[in-house]
Amino acid sequence: MAENVKEYSNGEITIVWKPDTCIHSALCFKGLPQVFDPRERLWIREHNANTQSIIHQINQCPRKALSFYYNEKEK
Ligand code: SF4
Repeated sequence: MAENVKEYSNGEITIVWKPDTCIHSALCFKGLPQVFDPRERLWIREHNANTQSIIHQINQCPRKALSFYYNEKEK
């Protein structure tokens, strides 16, 4: 069965969230609440912080439920 994966692009990077891996440790929304807000249905608002802040917070995720990749530059 395919892994459940959600993706959110801010143009520069794509945030990848694996809900089945997330243990709801709250680290992401305590660290960067303007982007990660579990009270909202679209809980990742990828345009509310700069890319470096988002990457820094993604790297704190204890389960690696959050990851990212750089988008290809448009030619
Ligand atoms: S930090 Fe990672 S494990 Fe914790 S709530 Fe956020 S995505 Fe889920």
